[in-house]
Amino acid sequence: MLDTLSKAFFHGLARNRTIEALASRYGMARPTSFGRRFIAGETLGEALAAARAVEASRMMVTLDQLGESVTTLAAADAATRIYLELVAAIVASGVERNISIKLSQLGLDIDCATCTDNVRKILEAGRPHGFFVRIDMEASTTVPMTLEIFQTLWDQGNRHVGLVLQSALYRSEEDARRLSAMGVRIRLVKGAYKEPPSVAHQKKAAVDAAFVRIQEYLLREGTYPALATHDPVIIEAANRFAEANRIGRDRYEFQMLFGIRRDLQTSLLADGYRVRLYVPFGKQWFPYFMRRLGERPANVGFVLRAILKDR
Ligand SMILES: Cc1cc2nc3c(=O)[nH]c(=O)nc-3n(C[C@H](O)[C@H](O)[C@H](O)COP(=O)(O)OP(=O)(O)OC[C@H]3O[C@@H](n4cnc5c(N)ncnc54)[C@H](O)[C@@H]3O)c2cc1C
Repeated sequence: MLDTLSKAFFHGLARNRTIEALASRYGMARPTSFGRRFIAGETLGEALAAARAVEASRMMVTLDQLGESVTTLAAADAATRIYLELVAAIVASGVERNISIKLSQLGLDIDCATCTDNVRKILEAGRPHGFFVRIDMEASTTVPMTLEIFQTLWDQGNRHVGLVLQSALYRSEEDARRLSAMGVRIRLVKGAYKEPPSVAHQKKAAVDAAFVRIQEYLLREGTYPALATHDPVIIEAANRFAEANRIGRDRYEFQMLFGIRRDLQTSLLADGYRVRLYVPFGKQWFPYFMRRLGERPANVGFVLRAILKDR
């Protein structure tokens, strides 16, 4: 109940333009500003520096140029161009060629065909350079269209693209089976959006139980699954399951968000597991930031402390 309320509250605040304007002004202004806890920076240079630091610590990286829910084709086109620049900058920088994208940033809510074309441009730019492109999963209303676009791109022969499934959604267990049969690389997450009971588990225990079921399926039948969670109980369950079923540590990876559970990231790495960090950057960091607060309302405390310190 508290989980649902907290997500609803922060998702509501995320749509408040006044708070967004204030946060955008102060949240990244200084090296100690609160936004920097979860976001690598507003510029490409800051993102690449963060990616290099992650790689220096022997973790892998996926870069995410923040932005979502564009409402005009011009904005979707601009976002696509920014992604093409990102691809070129990553190649020039020498950091790992792995990015995460959101379809609502590329026109999903406006026109499906244009969005598909935009993703295709990014895939085509990345293919000769060995990129892997992960399509993030957004609110449940966008899932059918996201899967449809993915299928179109897959049918056109793209294999350097993967998807995300959310254990909160009832449909994800079936989606995991269908996509695994195709050989699709899946990132499994719990789900960051507030969803209604008609489509999603409402209790954390049910979301966690579904995560473990899908995780075991992907470990057995999937193609190099990415288990994206900071939940130590679930992580331990994954490793026990893999060991019991003789699934090597090179056949799956853990993924975590920049700035969250750094202790767990380093201890997994020290134990010989693969760990990839999701490194978000860009000026449009506010909705992403609010989802992180919604996951853990205790984070509000660190925001307030950072604001007081920065004054
Ligand atoms: C690499 C990656 C990619 C993701 N991509 C997507 C996506 O495409 N679509 C989507 O819907 N969701 C995505 N998510 C978010 C995900 O759905 C969850 O909302 C988020 O990971 C929190 O859930 P959890 O599995 O860590 O478990 P929880 O049960 O929420 O948390 C477990 C523990 O992790 C720590 N923790 C979790 N969140 C925070 C936080 N915000 N601040 C501080 N500590 C925290 C706490 O110690 C907590 O006890 C992604 C997550 C990761 C790690």
